[in-house]
Amino acid sequence: AVEARDVVLSFGQTPALRGASLSVTRGEILAIMGPSGSGKSTLLHCLAGILVPASGEIHVDGRRIDTLSETARSALRRDRFGFVFQFGQLVPELTAEENIALPLLLGGARRTAALAEARTWFEPLGLDGLERRRSGELSGGQAQRIALARGLVAGPEILFADEPTGSLDSLTGEQIMELLVTAARERGTTVIVVTHEARVAAYADREIIVRDGRVTSLVPERIGS
Ligand code: ATP
Ligand code: MG
Repeated sequence: AVEARDVVLSFGQTPALRGASLSVTRGEILAIMGPSGSGKSTLLHCLAGILVPASGEIHVDGRRIDTLSETARSALRRDRFGFVFQFGQLVPELTAEENIALPLLLGGARRTAALAEARTWFEPLGLDGLERRRSGELSGGQAQRIALARGLVAGPEILFADEPTGSLDSLTGEQIMELLVTAARERGTTVIVVTHEARVAAYADREIIVRDGRVTSLVPERIGS
């Protein structure tokens, strides 16, 4: 479903990606691991068409996306991708339910229908009662779960999640991963998840490791699992 070939990207003088390649098949859950600063978030942003590499190629379902216009890439993100940012990036002035409803509203849904759909996410995420809370007044872990629901609410073909369990306790982290597994198994959603936790990566079909801006190891099977 998603393929990166020799992706290179620098921020000014700082090289972030130095020739990263990977491929993910439809319905697969891929975990991206690796040290802090190794380029994981940058790679995820490139795969999702948020950043454009200096060289290399990104293909989604066989179509090259890094050469598309910003408008075309935005449309692709809106219609087919879900993205959970490493630091949530909710709109603080909006309520929790409004934040979850955003992708539906951007897709043209009516406000009442979008909010009703958004409210169905609170109970499974253990967030009952927080529907009308302004998201600037949520805890880090609550905001992170809202961000995840926002990523999944529109039923994306591909979900990109950057450390979605980063500020959660282990029980909540496991609930999040169960949700991602359900999306992959029942809807065929392709899930690409960045994590530094082996316990989270254990839910994935496959793990890769990013080191110094390159995908250095492909681990086909986990020993003992
Ligand atoms: P972490 O595990 O800490 O989230 P990461 O693997 O996601 O790290 P990236 O955020 O992709 O790492 O960063 C890769 C490199 O690019 C780092 O050296 C980082 O300092 C640099 N970098 C990332 N974003 C920017 C930016 N917006 N401007 C300048 N440098 C950046
Ligand atoms: Mg990161």
